[in-house]
Amino acid sequence: MMMNVPLLVSSMLERAERYFPKKTVVSRTSNGIVTHTYKEIGERTRRLSSALDKIGVSKGDRVGTLAWNHHRHLEAYFGIPGIGAVLHTINIRLSPAHIVYIINHAEDKVLLFDEDLLPLLEKVKEQLKTVEAFVIMTDKDELPETNLEPLYHYEKIVNEGNPTFQFKKDLDENDPVGMCYTSATTGNPKGVVYSNRGVVLHSMALGLADGSGLTESDIAMPVVPMFHVNAWGLPFAAVWFGTTLVMPGPYFTPKVLAELIDSEKVTMTAGVPTIWLGLLNELEQGSYDTSSLTRILCGGSAAPKGLIKAFESKYKIPFIHAYGMTETTPLVVLSRLKSYQNNLSEEEKLEIRSKQGSIVPLVEMKVVGANGEVANDGKEMGELLLRGNWIADEYYKDERTNEAFRDGWLHTGDVVTVDEEGIVKIVDRTKDLIKSGGEWISSVDIENALMAHEAVFEAAVIAVPHERWQERPVACVVLKDAAKDQITKDELYEFLKPQFAKWWLPDDIIFMDEIPKTSVGKFLKRALRDQLKDHLSQVK
Ligand code: AMP
Repeated sequence: MMMNVPLLVSSMLERAERYFPKKTVVSRTSNGIVTHTYKEIGERTRRLSSALDKIGVSKGDRVGTLAWNHHRHLEAYFGIPGIGAVLHTINIRLSPAHIVYIINHAEDKVLLFDEDLLPLLEKVKEQLKTVEAFVIMTDKDELPETNLEPLYHYEKIVNEGNPTFQFKKDLDENDPVGMCYTSATTGNPKGVVYSNRGVVLHSMALGLADGSGLTESDIAMPVVPMFHVNAWGLPFAAVWFGTTLVMPGPYFTPKVLAELIDSEKVTMTAGVPTIWLGLLNELEQGSYDTSSLTRILCGGSAAPKGLIKAFESKYKIPFIHAYGMTETTPLVVLSRLKSYQNNLSEEEKLEIRSKQGSIVPLVEMKVVGANGEVANDGKEMGELLLRGNWIADEYYKDERTNEAFRDGWLHTGDVVTVDEEGIVKIVDRTKDLIKSGGEWISSVDIENALMAHEAVFEAAVIAVPHERWQERPVACVVLKDAAKDQITKDELYEFLKPQFAKWWLPDDIIFMDEIPKTSVGKFLKRALRDQLKDHLSQVK
Protein backbone atom coordinates (compact mmCIF):
# COMPACT_ATOMS: atom_id res chain seq x y z
CA MET A 1 0.00 0.00 0.00
CA MET A 2 1.02 3.59 -0.49
CA MET A 3 1.00 6.65 1.72
CA ASN A 4 -2.02 8.89 1.60
CA VAL A 5 -0.88 12.51 1.82
CA PRO A 6 -3.63 15.14 1.47
CA LEU A 7 -3.42 17.15 -1.76
CA LEU A 8 -3.58 20.76 -0.57
CA VAL A 9 -3.40 23.99 -2.55
CA SER A 10 -1.26 25.73 0.09
CA SER A 11 1.50 23.14 -0.53
CA MET A 12 1.73 24.36 -4.12
CA LEU A 13 2.81 27.82 -3.01
CA GLU A 14 5.20 26.35 -0.43
CA ARG A 15 6.90 24.53 -3.28
CA ALA A 16 7.36 27.78 -5.20
CA GLU A 17 8.77 29.50 -2.11
CA ARG A 18 11.18 26.67 -1.40
CA TYR A 19 12.35 25.70 -4.87
CA PHE A 20 11.70 28.73 -7.08
CA PRO A 21 12.25 31.73 -4.76
CA LYS A 22 13.91 33.78 -7.52
CA LYS A 23 11.27 33.15 -10.18
CA THR A 24 8.90 36.06 -10.71
CA VAL A 25 5.35 37.29 -11.06
CA VAL A 26 5.11 40.30 -13.35
CA SER A 27 1.97 42.34 -12.80
CA ARG A 28 0.51 45.29 -14.69
CA THR A 29 -0.96 47.84 -12.27
CA SER A 30 -2.12 51.43 -12.59
CA ASN A 31 1.42 52.42 -11.52
CA GLY A 32 3.01 50.43 -14.32
CA ILE A 33 4.64 47.00 -14.22
CA VAL A 34 5.61 45.61 -10.81
CA THR A 35 7.63 42.43 -10.32
CA HIS A 36 7.74 40.18 -7.27
CA THR A 37 9.71 37.00 -6.73
CA TYR A 38 7.96 33.88 -5.49
CA LYS A 39 9.81 34.42 -2.21
CA GLU A 40 8.12 37.82 -1.91
CA ILE A 41 4.76 36.50 -3.11
CA GLY A 42 5.03 33.73 -0.49
CA GLU A 43 5.76 36.20 2.29
CA ARG A 44 3.00 38.59 1.23
CA THR A 45 0.56 35.68 0.99
CA ARG A 46 1.43 34.55 4.52
CA ARG A 47 0.94 38.11 5.73
CA LEU A 48 -2.46 38.19 3.97
CA SER A 49 -3.50 34.88 5.57
CA SER A 50 -2.58 36.21 9.01
CA ALA A 51 -4.47 39.46 8.34
CA LEU A 52 -7.61 37.60 7.25
CA ASP A 53 -7.27 35.41 10.33
CA LYS A 54 -7.14 38.55 12.46
CA ILE A 55 -10.18 40.04 10.72
CA GLY A 56 -12.05 36.90 11.83
CA VAL A 57 -12.06 34.63 8.78
CA SER A 58 -11.90 30.99 9.75
CA LYS A 59 -11.93 27.57 8.15
CA GLY A 60 -14.76 27.09 5.67
CA ASP A 61 -15.70 30.82 5.53
CA ARG A 62 -16.13 32.23 2.05
CA VAL A 63 -14.04 35.24 1.02
CA GLY A 64 -15.16 36.89 -2.21
CA THR A 65 -12.83 38.56 -4.70
CA LEU A 66 -13.90 41.11 -7.31
CA ALA A 67 -10.66 41.61 -9.16
CA TRP A 68 -8.68 41.52 -12.38
CA ASN A 69 -5.61 39.38 -13.07
CA HIS A 70 -2.78 40.73 -10.91
CA HIS A 71 -0.35 39.73 -8.18
CA ARG A 72 -2.66 40.69 -5.32
CA HIS A 73 -5.39 38.47 -6.70
CA LEU A 74 -2.78 35.72 -6.97
CA GLU A 75 -1.93 36.18 -3.30
CA ALA A 76 -5.64 35.87 -2.48
CA TYR A 77 -5.70 32.60 -4.49
CA PHE A 78 -3.34 31.10 -1.89
CA GLY A 79 -3.83 33.32 1.16
CA ILE A 80 -7.54 32.53 1.50
CA PRO A 81 -7.05 28.72 1.20
CA GLY A 82 -4.01 29.15 3.49
CA ILE A 83 -6.36 29.50 6.46
CA GLY A 84 -8.74 26.83 5.18
CA ALA A 85 -11.20 29.45 3.90
CA VAL A 86 -12.85 29.36 0.47
CA LEU A 87 -11.71 31.64 -2.38
CA HIS A 88 -14.91 32.81 -4.06
CA THR A 89 -14.02 34.53 -7.33
CA ILE A 90 -16.86 36.78 -8.47
CA ASN A 91 -17.42 37.54 -12.15
CA ILE A 92 -17.30 41.34 -12.30
CA ARG A 93 -19.10 41.37 -15.66
CA LEU A 94 -22.35 40.03 -14.22
CA SER A 95 -25.27 42.38 -13.59
CA PRO A 96 -25.32 44.02 -10.13
CA ALA A 97 -28.41 41.95 -9.25
CA HIS A 98 -26.56 38.70 -10.00
CA ILE A 99 -23.46 39.87 -8.12
CA VAL A 100 -25.60 40.61 -5.06
CA TYR A 101 -27.29 37.23 -5.40
CA ILE A 102 -24.06 35.25 -5.51
CA ILE A 103 -22.42 37.15 -2.63
CA ASN A 104 -25.49 36.46 -0.50
CA HIS A 105 -25.87 32.90 -1.70
CA ALA A 106 -22.22 32.06 -1.03
CA GLU A 107 -22.53 33.96 2.27
CA ASP A 108 -19.24 35.75 1.72
CA LYS A 109 -17.83 37.05 5.00
CA VAL A 110 -15.18 39.36 3.57
CA LEU A 111 -14.83 40.91 0.11
CA LEU A 112 -11.47 41.74 -1.50
CA PHE A 113 -12.00 44.09 -4.43
CA ASP A 114 -10.24 46.26 -6.99
CA GLU A 115 -10.72 50.00 -6.75
CA ASP A 116 -12.80 50.22 -9.93
CA LEU A 117 -15.43 47.98 -8.29
CA LEU A 118 -15.92 50.47 -5.44
CA PRO A 119 -18.88 52.34 -7.02
CA LEU A 120 -20.69 49.04 -7.62
CA LEU A 121 -20.18 47.87 -4.04
CA GLU A 122 -21.23 51.24 -2.64
CA LYS A 123 -24.45 50.99 -4.64
CA VAL A 124 -25.38 47.47 -3.52
CA LYS A 125 -23.94 47.58 0.00
CA GLU A 126 -27.31 47.61 1.78
CA GLN A 127 -28.33 44.42 -0.01
CA LEU A 128 -25.30 42.40 1.12
CA LYS A 129 -26.49 40.26 4.01
CA THR A 130 -23.37 38.47 5.23
CA VAL A 131 -20.37 40.67 4.42
CA GLU A 132 -18.61 41.80 7.60
CA ALA A 133 -15.55 43.54 6.11
CA PHE A 134 -14.20 44.95 2.85
CA VAL A 135 -10.58 45.02 1.66
CA ILE A 136 -9.62 47.34 -1.19
CA MET A 137 -6.80 46.29 -3.50
CA THR A 138 -5.53 49.66 -4.65
CA ASP A 139 -2.27 51.11 -5.94
CA LYS A 140 -2.91 54.34 -4.00
CA ASP A 141 -1.54 54.88 -0.49
CA GLU A 142 -4.74 56.17 1.04
CA LEU A 143 -8.19 54.72 1.49
CA PRO A 144 -10.84 56.38 -0.69
CA GLU A 145 -13.76 58.37 0.71
CA THR A 146 -16.55 55.82 0.96
CA ASN A 147 -19.51 54.58 2.93
CA LEU A 148 -18.21 50.99 2.90
CA GLU A 149 -17.18 49.89 6.36
CA PRO A 150 -15.17 48.45 7.87
CA LEU A 151 -12.82 49.00 4.94
CA TYR A 152 -9.21 47.81 5.07
CA HIS A 153 -6.32 48.82 2.81
CA TYR A 154 -4.87 45.65 1.26
CA GLU A 155 -1.24 46.80 1.29
CA LYS A 156 -1.57 48.08 4.83
CA ILE A 157 -2.93 44.82 6.26
CA VAL A 158 -0.35 42.86 4.27
CA ASN A 159 2.45 45.06 5.63
CA GLU A 160 1.23 44.59 9.17
CA GLY A 161 0.71 40.83 8.70
CA ASN A 162 2.96 37.99 9.82
CA PRO A 163 5.47 36.93 7.10
CA THR A 164 6.08 33.56 8.76
CA PHE A 165 2.42 32.69 9.30
CA GLN A 166 1.94 28.92 8.97
CA PHE A 167 -0.69 27.78 6.50
CA LYS A 168 -3.40 25.58 7.98
CA LYS A 169 -2.48 21.96 7.39
CA ASP A 170 -5.06 19.96 9.34
CA LEU A 171 -7.33 19.98 6.32
CA ASP A 172 -8.91 17.22 4.33
CA GLU A 173 -8.01 17.21 0.66
CA ASN A 174 -11.74 17.11 -0.09
CA ASP A 175 -12.32 20.35 1.80
CA PRO A 176 -13.47 23.23 -0.41
CA VAL A 177 -10.77 25.59 -1.64
CA GLY A 178 -12.66 27.77 -4.07
CA MET A 179 -15.95 28.51 -5.71
CA CYS A 180 -17.21 30.14 -8.85
CA TYR A 181 -20.73 30.81 -10.15
CA THR A 182 -21.77 30.08 -13.70
CA SER A 183 -24.76 31.47 -15.58
CA ALA A 184 -27.91 29.39 -15.75
CA THR A 185 -30.35 29.21 -18.67
CA THR A 186 -32.55 31.53 -16.69
CA GLY A 187 -32.61 33.02 -13.23
CA ASN A 188 -29.70 33.25 -10.86
CA PRO A 189 -26.20 31.86 -11.46
CA LYS A 190 -25.29 28.43 -10.06
CA GLY A 191 -22.33 27.87 -7.73
CA VAL A 192 -19.58 25.31 -8.26
CA VAL A 193 -17.29 24.42 -5.34
CA TYR A 194 -13.73 23.26 -6.05
CA SER A 195 -11.94 20.92 -3.66
CA ASN A 196 -8.22 21.04 -2.81
CA ARG A 197 -7.89 17.60 -4.34
CA GLY A 198 -9.64 18.58 -7.57
CA VAL A 199 -7.50 21.71 -8.04
CA VAL A 200 -4.22 19.88 -7.38
CA LEU A 201 -5.04 17.03 -9.75
CA HIS A 202 -6.26 19.45 -12.41
CA SER A 203 -3.01 21.41 -12.11
CA MET A 204 -1.13 18.19 -12.73
CA ALA A 205 -3.11 17.76 -15.95
CA LEU A 206 -2.18 21.29 -17.04
CA GLY A 207 1.44 20.21 -16.83
CA LEU A 208 1.09 17.12 -19.01
CA ALA A 209 3.20 17.41 -22.13
CA ASP A 210 0.21 16.45 -24.28
CA GLY A 211 -2.00 18.81 -22.28
CA SER A 212 -1.11 22.49 -22.00
CA GLY A 213 2.44 21.33 -21.19
CA LEU A 214 3.08 24.05 -18.62
CA THR A 215 6.63 23.92 -17.24
CA GLU A 216 9.05 25.88 -15.07
CA SER A 217 10.65 27.35 -18.18
CA ASP A 218 7.38 28.86 -19.40
CA ILE A 219 6.48 32.52 -19.07
CA ALA A 220 2.73 32.21 -18.84
CA MET A 221 0.23 35.01 -19.32
CA PRO A 222 -3.34 34.05 -18.32
CA VAL A 223 -5.59 36.48 -20.17
CA VAL A 224 -8.69 34.51 -19.25
CA PRO A 225 -9.96 36.28 -16.13
CA MET A 226 -9.14 34.99 -12.67
CA PHE A 227 -12.89 35.29 -12.01
CA HIS A 228 -13.63 32.80 -14.79
CA VAL A 229 -12.94 29.24 -13.60
CA ASN A 230 -9.76 30.37 -11.82
CA ALA A 231 -8.22 31.60 -15.09
CA TRP A 232 -8.54 27.98 -16.23
CA GLY A 233 -6.49 26.90 -13.21
CA LEU A 234 -3.29 28.39 -14.64
CA PRO A 235 -2.34 30.49 -11.59
CA PHE A 236 -2.40 27.39 -9.36
CA ALA A 237 -0.39 25.24 -11.76
CA ALA A 238 2.09 28.01 -12.63
CA VAL A 239 2.94 28.71 -8.99
CA TRP A 240 3.32 25.00 -8.29
CA PHE A 241 5.71 24.51 -11.22
CA GLY A 242 7.66 27.72 -10.60
CA THR A 243 6.51 29.12 -13.94
CA THR A 244 7.02 32.85 -14.46
CA LEU A 245 3.62 34.55 -14.47
CA VAL A 246 2.67 37.68 -16.39
CA MET A 247 -0.58 39.24 -15.19
CA PRO A 248 -2.17 41.68 -17.66
CA GLY A 249 -4.07 43.66 -14.99
CA PRO A 250 -7.18 45.79 -15.41
CA TYR A 251 -8.75 47.02 -18.65
CA PHE A 252 -6.08 45.59 -20.91
CA THR A 253 -6.33 46.14 -24.66
CA PRO A 254 -4.94 44.03 -27.52
CA LYS A 255 -2.08 46.55 -27.65
CA VAL A 256 -1.25 45.95 -23.98
CA LEU A 257 -1.24 42.19 -24.58
CA ALA A 258 0.99 42.49 -27.63
CA GLU A 259 3.41 44.73 -25.71
CA LEU A 260 3.53 42.33 -22.76
CA ILE A 261 4.21 39.36 -25.04
CA ASP A 262 7.01 41.32 -26.67
CA SER A 263 8.61 42.84 -23.55
CA GLU A 264 8.19 39.91 -21.13
CA LYS A 265 8.95 37.22 -23.75
CA VAL A 266 5.74 35.36 -22.94
CA THR A 267 5.88 31.71 -24.04
CA MET A 268 2.27 30.66 -23.45
CA THR A 269 -0.97 32.50 -23.03
CA ALA A 270 -4.62 31.52 -22.66
CA GLY A 271 -7.99 33.09 -23.40
CA VAL A 272 -11.23 33.06 -25.40
CA PRO A 273 -11.33 33.52 -29.21
CA THR A 274 -12.42 37.17 -28.94
CA ILE A 275 -9.10 37.98 -27.26
CA TRP A 276 -7.10 36.32 -30.04
CA LEU A 277 -9.12 37.99 -32.78
CA GLY A 278 -8.27 41.32 -31.16
CA LEU A 279 -4.59 40.39 -30.80
CA LEU A 280 -4.42 39.27 -34.42
CA ASN A 281 -5.76 42.61 -35.52
CA GLU A 282 -3.19 44.41 -33.34
CA LEU A 283 -0.30 42.29 -34.66
CA GLU A 284 -1.35 43.17 -38.18
CA GLN A 285 -1.21 46.89 -37.42
CA GLY A 286 1.78 47.24 -35.14
CA SER A 287 5.26 45.84 -35.05
CA TYR A 288 5.79 43.34 -32.24
CA ASP A 289 8.14 40.46 -31.61
CA THR A 290 5.98 37.45 -30.77
CA SER A 291 8.65 34.86 -31.49
CA SER A 292 8.84 33.84 -27.81
CA LEU A 293 5.33 32.39 -27.94
CA THR A 294 5.35 28.61 -28.24
CA ARG A 295 1.57 28.24 -27.94
CA ILE A 296 -1.75 29.96 -27.43
CA LEU A 297 -4.42 28.08 -25.53
CA CYS A 298 -7.90 28.96 -26.80
CA GLY A 299 -11.20 27.84 -25.32
CA GLY A 300 -14.50 28.95 -23.87
CA SER A 301 -16.06 29.15 -27.35
CA ALA A 302 -15.26 27.36 -30.58
CA ALA A 303 -11.99 28.55 -32.14
CA PRO A 304 -12.69 29.55 -35.76
CA LYS A 305 -10.50 27.74 -38.30
CA GLY A 306 -9.41 31.05 -39.81
CA LEU A 307 -8.06 32.16 -36.45
CA ILE A 308 -6.01 28.99 -35.95
CA LYS A 309 -4.67 29.28 -39.46
CA ALA A 310 -3.76 32.96 -39.17
CA PHE A 311 -1.71 32.48 -36.00
CA GLU A 312 0.00 29.36 -37.24
CA SER A 313 0.80 30.20 -40.83
CA LYS A 314 1.47 33.92 -40.54
CA TYR A 315 2.93 34.20 -37.03
CA LYS A 316 4.17 30.61 -36.57
CA ILE A 317 2.48 30.42 -33.17
CA PRO A 318 0.96 27.00 -32.40
CA PHE A 319 -2.70 27.41 -31.49
CA ILE A 320 -4.25 24.84 -29.15
CA HIS A 321 -7.99 24.48 -28.98
CA ALA A 322 -9.44 23.28 -25.67
CA TYR A 323 -12.81 22.79 -24.06
CA GLY A 324 -14.12 22.91 -20.53
CA MET A 325 -16.69 24.39 -18.20
CA THR A 326 -16.90 26.09 -14.81
CA GLU A 327 -18.18 22.72 -13.57
CA THR A 328 -15.00 20.97 -14.81
CA THR A 329 -12.23 23.15 -13.26
CA PRO A 330 -12.21 23.54 -16.48
CA LEU A 331 -9.82 21.51 -18.67
CA VAL A 332 -11.33 18.26 -19.96
CA VAL A 333 -10.83 18.15 -23.72
CA LEU A 334 -7.83 19.41 -25.69
CA SER A 335 -6.91 19.23 -29.33
CA ARG A 336 -3.52 17.94 -30.44
CA LEU A 337 -2.59 16.02 -33.54
CA LYS A 338 -1.55 12.43 -32.99
CA SER A 339 1.94 11.62 -34.22
CA TYR A 340 0.70 9.66 -37.23
CA GLN A 341 -1.65 12.48 -38.25
CA ASN A 342 1.29 14.71 -39.11
CA ASN A 343 1.35 13.23 -42.59
CA LEU A 344 -2.10 14.57 -43.41
CA SER A 345 -2.61 17.57 -45.65
CA GLU A 346 -2.64 21.03 -44.07
CA GLU A 347 -6.40 21.28 -44.64
CA GLU A 348 -7.04 17.90 -42.98
CA LYS A 349 -4.86 18.80 -40.03
CA LEU A 350 -6.66 22.10 -39.59
CA GLU A 351 -9.98 20.29 -39.72
CA ILE A 352 -8.92 18.01 -36.83
CA ARG A 353 -7.39 20.80 -34.78
CA SER A 354 -10.46 23.00 -35.06
CA LYS A 355 -12.40 20.28 -33.25
CA GLN A 356 -12.32 20.47 -29.46
CA GLY A 357 -10.05 17.42 -29.18
CA SER A 358 -9.55 14.35 -26.98
CA ILE A 359 -10.40 13.77 -23.37
CA VAL A 360 -7.49 14.38 -20.97
CA PRO A 361 -6.23 11.60 -18.66
CA LEU A 362 -8.29 11.00 -15.50
CA VAL A 363 -11.50 12.32 -17.05
CA GLU A 364 -14.04 9.96 -18.60
CA MET A 365 -16.66 10.84 -21.17
CA LYS A 366 -19.76 9.32 -22.68
CA VAL A 367 -21.85 10.70 -25.54
CA VAL A 368 -25.52 9.87 -25.25
CA GLY A 369 -28.20 10.39 -27.91
CA ALA A 370 -31.89 9.53 -28.05
CA ASN A 371 -31.06 5.82 -28.43
CA GLY A 372 -28.24 5.49 -25.92
CA GLU A 373 -24.53 5.95 -26.55
CA VAL A 374 -23.82 7.24 -30.05
CA ALA A 375 -21.61 5.53 -32.63
CA ASN A 376 -18.06 6.83 -32.78
CA ASP A 377 -18.48 7.82 -36.41
CA GLY A 378 -18.09 11.59 -36.24
CA LYS A 379 -21.71 11.94 -37.38
CA GLU A 380 -24.16 10.77 -34.77
CA MET A 381 -24.84 13.50 -32.24
CA GLY A 382 -25.42 13.22 -28.52
CA GLU A 383 -24.95 15.07 -25.26
CA LEU A 384 -21.48 15.02 -23.74
CA LEU A 385 -21.41 13.48 -20.25
CA LEU A 386 -18.33 13.73 -18.02
CA ARG A 387 -16.99 12.25 -14.80
CA GLY A 388 -13.67 12.54 -13.04
CA ASN A 389 -11.72 13.90 -10.09
CA TRP A 390 -12.06 17.55 -11.04
CA ILE A 391 -15.66 17.43 -12.23
CA ALA A 392 -18.25 18.93 -9.84
CA ASP A 393 -20.96 16.62 -8.60
CA GLU A 394 -23.47 19.25 -7.55
CA TYR A 395 -24.32 22.93 -7.61
CA TYR A 396 -23.85 24.66 -4.28
CA LYS A 397 -27.11 24.59 -2.31
CA ASP A 398 -29.15 24.59 -5.50
CA GLU A 399 -32.05 22.40 -6.54
CA ARG A 400 -30.96 22.71 -10.19
CA THR A 401 -28.30 20.13 -9.28
CA ASN A 402 -30.71 17.38 -10.34
CA GLU A 403 -30.92 18.68 -13.91
CA ALA A 404 -27.18 18.46 -14.60
CA PHE A 405 -25.84 15.76 -12.28
CA ARG A 406 -27.46 12.37 -12.83
CA ASP A 407 -26.32 8.76 -12.54
CA GLY A 408 -22.79 9.78 -11.55
CA TRP A 409 -22.27 11.93 -14.65
CA LEU A 410 -22.23 15.67 -15.35
CA HIS A 411 -24.63 16.35 -18.24
CA THR A 412 -22.85 19.21 -19.99
CA GLY A 413 -25.69 20.43 -22.20
CA ASP A 414 -23.21 20.42 -25.10
CA VAL A 415 -24.15 18.38 -28.16
CA VAL A 416 -21.17 16.69 -29.78
CA THR A 417 -20.03 14.09 -32.26
CA VAL A 418 -17.11 11.82 -31.55
CA ASP A 419 -15.11 10.12 -34.29
CA GLU A 420 -13.29 6.78 -34.43
CA GLU A 421 -10.16 8.47 -32.99
CA GLY A 422 -12.18 9.68 -29.99
CA ILE A 423 -12.00 13.29 -31.10
CA VAL A 424 -14.87 15.42 -29.86
CA LYS A 425 -16.53 18.11 -31.92
CA ILE A 426 -19.12 20.41 -30.40
CA VAL A 427 -21.98 20.89 -32.81
CA ASP A 428 -24.69 22.51 -30.72
CA ARG A 429 -25.80 23.17 -27.18
CA THR A 430 -29.04 22.29 -25.45
CA LYS A 431 -28.75 25.10 -22.93
CA ASP A 432 -30.57 28.17 -24.12
CA LEU A 433 -27.67 30.52 -23.61
CA ILE A 434 -25.66 32.73 -25.92
CA LYS A 435 -21.91 33.06 -25.46
CA SER A 436 -20.67 36.49 -26.40
CA GLY A 437 -16.97 37.23 -26.01
CA GLY A 438 -16.63 34.38 -23.50
CA GLU A 439 -19.52 35.51 -21.28
CA TRP A 440 -23.04 34.14 -21.15
CA ILE A 441 -26.27 35.90 -22.10
CA SER A 442 -29.56 34.25 -21.20
CA SER A 443 -31.89 34.21 -24.21
CA VAL A 444 -34.73 33.15 -21.91
CA ASP A 445 -34.30 36.18 -19.65
CA ILE A 446 -34.40 38.57 -22.62
CA GLU A 447 -37.42 36.74 -24.06
CA ASN A 448 -39.25 37.01 -20.74
CA ALA A 449 -38.41 40.68 -20.47
CA LEU A 450 -39.70 41.35 -23.99
CA MET A 451 -42.84 39.34 -23.40
CA ALA A 452 -43.53 41.43 -20.32
CA HIS A 453 -44.02 44.43 -22.64
CA GLU A 454 -47.70 45.07 -23.22
CA ALA A 455 -47.34 45.23 -27.02
CA VAL A 456 -45.44 41.94 -27.37
CA PHE A 457 -47.27 38.69 -28.06
CA GLU A 458 -44.21 36.45 -28.17
CA ALA A 459 -40.46 36.76 -28.46
CA ALA A 460 -37.62 34.36 -29.25
CA VAL A 461 -33.98 35.32 -28.85
CA ILE A 462 -31.44 33.43 -30.94
CA ALA A 463 -27.66 33.29 -31.09
CA VAL A 464 -26.22 34.66 -34.31
CA PRO A 465 -22.62 33.98 -35.34
CA HIS A 466 -20.48 37.08 -34.97
CA GLU A 467 -16.98 37.68 -36.24
CA ARG A 468 -15.64 39.37 -33.13
CA TRP A 469 -17.84 38.07 -30.28
CA GLN A 470 -18.49 34.57 -31.71
CA GLU A 471 -22.18 34.93 -30.90
CA ARG A 472 -24.59 37.81 -30.41
CA PRO A 473 -28.28 37.82 -29.50
CA VAL A 474 -30.97 38.79 -32.00
CA ALA A 475 -34.61 39.05 -30.88
CA CYS A 476 -37.54 37.93 -33.03
CA VAL A 477 -40.76 39.55 -31.87
CA VAL A 478 -44.41 38.97 -32.73
CA LEU A 479 -46.54 41.94 -31.73
CA LYS A 480 -50.10 41.70 -30.48
CA ASP A 481 -52.62 42.53 -33.23
CA ALA A 482 -53.65 45.76 -31.58
CA ALA A 483 -50.03 46.89 -31.35
CA LYS A 484 -48.99 46.13 -34.93
CA ASP A 485 -47.41 49.19 -36.56
CA GLN A 486 -47.87 51.02 -33.25
CA ILE A 487 -44.51 50.31 -31.67
CA THR A 488 -40.94 50.71 -32.88
CA LYS A 489 -37.71 48.80 -32.25
CA ASP A 490 -36.36 51.81 -30.40
CA GLU A 491 -39.23 51.71 -27.94
CA LEU A 492 -38.50 48.07 -27.19
CA TYR A 493 -34.80 48.87 -26.73
CA GLU A 494 -35.69 51.66 -24.28
CA PHE A 495 -37.83 49.14 -22.41
CA LEU A 496 -35.00 46.58 -22.20
CA LYS A 497 -32.16 48.97 -21.37
CA PRO A 498 -32.79 49.45 -17.64
CA GLN A 499 -33.16 45.71 -17.15
CA PHE A 500 -29.90 44.41 -18.60
CA ALA A 501 -26.19 45.07 -18.89
CA LYS A 502 -25.55 46.95 -22.16
CA TRP A 503 -23.75 44.02 -23.79
CA TRP A 504 -26.82 41.81 -23.22
CA LEU A 505 -29.04 43.95 -25.51
CA PRO A 506 -29.90 42.20 -28.81
CA ASP A 507 -27.99 43.39 -31.87
CA ASP A 508 -31.31 43.54 -33.71
CA ILE A 509 -35.01 43.20 -33.02
CA ILE A 510 -36.87 41.68 -35.93
CA PHE A 511 -40.66 41.91 -36.14
CA MET A 512 -42.32 38.77 -37.54
CA ASP A 513 -45.84 37.40 -38.02
CA GLU A 514 -45.09 34.07 -36.42
CA ILE A 515 -42.30 32.19 -34.68
CA PRO A 516 -41.81 28.56 -35.85
CA LYS A 517 -42.57 26.04 -33.09
CA THR A 518 -42.19 22.35 -32.31
CA SER A 519 -45.23 20.09 -31.97
CA VAL A 520 -45.23 20.81 -28.24
CA GLY A 521 -45.16 24.54 -28.77
CA LYS A 522 -41.47 25.27 -28.03
CA PHE A 523 -39.68 27.80 -30.19
CA LEU A 524 -37.82 26.06 -33.01
CA LYS A 525 -34.73 28.19 -32.83
CA ARG A 526 -32.79 26.27 -35.42
CA ALA A 527 -35.60 26.79 -37.96
CA LEU A 528 -35.72 30.43 -36.98
CA ARG A 529 -31.99 30.81 -37.63
CA ASP A 530 -32.37 29.15 -41.04
CA GLN A 531 -35.35 31.31 -41.90
CA LEU A 532 -33.43 34.47 -41.06
CA LYS A 533 -30.06 33.47 -42.52
CA ASP A 534 -30.06 36.10 -45.25
CA HIS A 535 -31.26 38.85 -43.01
CA LEU A 536 -28.81 37.93 -40.25
CA SER A 537 -25.80 37.93 -42.53
CA GLN A 538 -26.36 41.67 -42.80
CA VAL A 539 -26.53 42.26 -39.03
CA LYS A 540 -23.39 43.95 -37.88
P1 AMP B 1 -18.13 28.37 -18.83
O1 AMP B 1 -18.68 27.56 -17.73
O2 AMP B 1 -18.59 29.79 -18.81
O3 AMP B 1 -16.67 28.24 -18.96
O4 AMP B 1 -18.75 27.79 -20.18
C1 AMP B 1 -18.62 26.44 -20.54
C2 AMP B 1 -19.32 26.22 -21.86
O5 AMP B 1 -18.66 26.98 -22.87
C3 AMP B 1 -19.31 24.80 -22.36
O6 AMP B 1 -20.33 24.01 -21.78
C4 AMP B 1 -19.51 25.03 -23.85
O7 AMP B 1 -20.88 25.26 -24.15
C5 AMP B 1 -18.74 26.31 -24.11
N1 AMP B 1 -17.36 26.03 -24.55
C6 AMP B 1 -16.25 25.97 -23.81
N2 AMP B 1 -15.16 25.71 -24.56
C7 AMP B 1 -15.60 25.58 -25.83
C8 AMP B 1 -14.97 25.30 -27.08
N3 AMP B 1 -13.66 25.10 -27.19
N4 AMP B 1 -15.75 25.23 -28.17
C9 AMP B 1 -17.09 25.43 -28.09
N5 AMP B 1 -17.74 25.71 -26.94
C10 AMP B 1 -17.01 25.79 -25.83
